[in-house]
Amino acid sequence: MNILFFGPNGSGKGTQGAILKDKYKTPHIESGAIFRENISKGTELGAKAKAYIDRGDLVPDDITIPMILDRLKQADCKNGWLLDGFPRNKNQAIKLDEALKAAGLGLDIVIEIILDREIAKNRIMGRRLCVKDNNHPNNIFIDAIMPKDGKCRVCGSELKTRADDQDETAINKRHDIYYNTIDGTLASAYYFKELAASGKGIRYITLDGKPGVKEVAAELMSKL
Ligand code: AMP
Repeated sequence: MNILFFGPNGSGKGTQGAILKDKYKTPHIESGAIFRENISKGTELGAKAKAYIDRGDLVPDDITIPMILDRLKQADCKNGWLLDGFPRNKNQAIKLDEALKAAGLGLDIVIEIILDREIAKNRIMGRRLCVKDNNHPNNIFIDAIMPKDGKCRVCGSELKTRADDQDETAINKRHDIYYNTIDGTLASAYYFKELAASGKGIRYITLDGKPGVKEVAAELMSKL
């Protein structure tokens, strides 16, 4: 099962992605998480990406596209993958489409979480990351995933914030990119929506991101 997952930063994409990953037993490939891992390990890729990420800009396509296409060629992706955070602009969508075609692969499902920009922004600012597991959702503004006594509600580990989650200018920049329907992230989602509409065997599923995590998960399950 090859799945693409779209949603603005703050729409609960990571949380729902963890559910999908368990359901389909596919690797959950998050472009942002790959960059953060490289930054924390001090790799050359991390050094190149850091300044862009701190500003809320996209890391240039000549770094990002090969990084993701190489990741999809790894052994654990043989039976499918869940791609989250990529493509982020129309060029990435076209390059992904071309690479899949060249490899004789196709997309099965494209999911788009729809959420107002203002709500998404508040959710980002409340997000807390578990230091042990990136897939443990915690948010100080969402009751269903409120941390317990300031620690991860799943495993009790320490929580941290992402620097780019607390910087309003960076958040606005990230949302400018996401909500851009000309050549930004929504343009790349709509690129696949058109392919789905033209009968290429792709299912395009939309989810309302406004309700809580459980409700969104239920809508997701009912539509899969
Ligand atoms: P995320 O964790 O998805 O919010 O990503 C964090 C940051 O990583 C983004 O704000 C970008 O700077 C960078 N990034 C993640 N995915 C991409 C992508 N597909 N293209 C370019 N930059 C990306």
